[in-house]
Amino acid sequence: MAQIRPFQKVLVANRGEIAIRIFRACTELHIRTVAIYSEEDQVSLHRFKADEAYLVGEGKGPVESYLDIEGIIEIAKRHNVDAIHPGYGFLSENSEFARRCEEEGIVFIGPNPEHIKMFGDKVEARRLAIEANIPVVPGTETPIEQLQEAIFFANEHGYPIMIKAASGGGGRGMRIARNQAELEESMERARSEALSAFGNSQVYLEKYLENPKHIEVQVLADQYGNAVHLFERDCSVQRRHQKVVEIAPSLSLTENLRNEIYQAALKIMKQANYINAGTVEFLVTPDQKFYFIEVNPRIQVEHTITELITGIDIVQAQIKIAEGYALDNSVMGIPPQNQITKNGYAIQCRVTTEDPENGFMPDTGRIVAYRSASGFGVRLDAGNSFAGAYITPHYDSLLVKVSTYANTFEQAASKMLRTLKEFRIRGVKTNILFLENLVQHPNFLNGHYDTSFIDSHPELFH
Ligand code: ADP
Repeated sequence: MAQIRPFQKVLVANRGEIAIRIFRACTELHIRTVAIYSEEDQVSLHRFKADEAYLVGEGKGPVESYLDIEGIIEIAKRHNVDAIHPGYGFLSENSEFARRCEEEGIVFIGPNPEHIKMFGDKVEARRLAIEANIPVVPGTETPIEQLQEAIFFANEHGYPIMIKAASGGGGRGMRIARNQAELEESMERARSEALSAFGNSQVYLEKYLENPKHIEVQVLADQYGNAVHLFERDCSVQRRHQKVVEIAPSLSLTENLRNEIYQAALKIMKQANYINAGTVEFLVTPDQKFYFIEVNPRIQVEHTITELITGIDIVQAQIKIAEGYALDNSVMGIPPQNQITKNGYAIQCRVTTEDPENGFMPDTGRIVAYRSASGFGVRLDAGNSFAGAYITPHYDSLLVKVSTYANTFEQAASKMLRTLKEFRIRGVKTNILFLENLVQHPNFLNGHYDTSFIDSHPELFH
């Protein structure tokens, strides 16, 4: 029987909205919070939202500061931090960081280093899924090195083929080849891109599925082998394989398919002896077949909408799991699976400082005016979003996550449109008008969208 170790102080090894989101969860649990910030983030809001804040990675650079494993551990030890939450991005999927925390007696709020390592390698993850008898997209069982092997696979399975980096993430490290000439041209490029972007040149092949939906299942698992799912999110509205709008629950799954997908997600996480929050991602084809693609062993950007429909605070659950509580411990506040209910519909839009009319180029500069929205059923998760804030080119362009919640999908969508229209942001360009077009598009409203939706509707950009 493992020990419960209540946390007094938690450090968040991250910045922006997710750092603030985690501080809020900690404060409600009466846990003291510690922020770290880079030199470039001296006046960033997350710094001021924590009880304590320390400069990290001096002279190292804006991104590198948040990747400074030893610097972060040193701050944590000096200030008696019990646990570190990595958020998403940065060190969240770095098994070495999780291992170093463990070594120093600091709890890493997330899965074990082995899980991070395994799921960081998509080929390994596919292997695990196959072992668990979960359907995977037809693909190669090992990384591919020779062009000949790739051509052999393509001839067997037919084009189009997707070349994917084994360590890829964030929608990067993927290329589509529609014929042999494209495959020949893309293989070497994909390998060298994978090496420079992810430090690992391994690529593998998958059959490219046309017009799938991206459906993912939120799972919570404790260290005693118990796991529950918190239903699904539909993240099919994507640009360049990156999520833009997410919906919970999905509008288009039959009850049977939905349950099969939940069971598949739980099975793979149980097979891995997974601990903490994680997401199992699938593609669902128009003929209602589902295929595993990957596991994200961390909190995700879109966790908010699952919280809205289930009433479960996923970040607080992560903390309590890391403290050693079992899922069925009353302190967790999580009912048994058959009593976890979903109510209504939630939608999240990622408002970014990008210009849709100019290829979604990130914009920078001072926000001179900022009026945000509020009201019944509206949730905002934001970082540096206020008049006077400076949007630098150093970090990702997420400005504010806007989530709406209502009894029906139509109501949630019209609430989203109303909410987006309420925003007034001057000084930097945003994608708000694009999002407004999107959430009132007939195909969005009737659920007839898949991962090609944005690309096939250029009218959304104006
Ligand atoms: P990442 O880790 O970069 O997010 P994923 O493997 O999760 O990459 O895929 C991201 C998106 O790329 C999916 O949601 C889907 O839109 C697209 N995608 C990935 N694999 C395939 C595939 N085999 N066929 C069609 N689309 C795919």
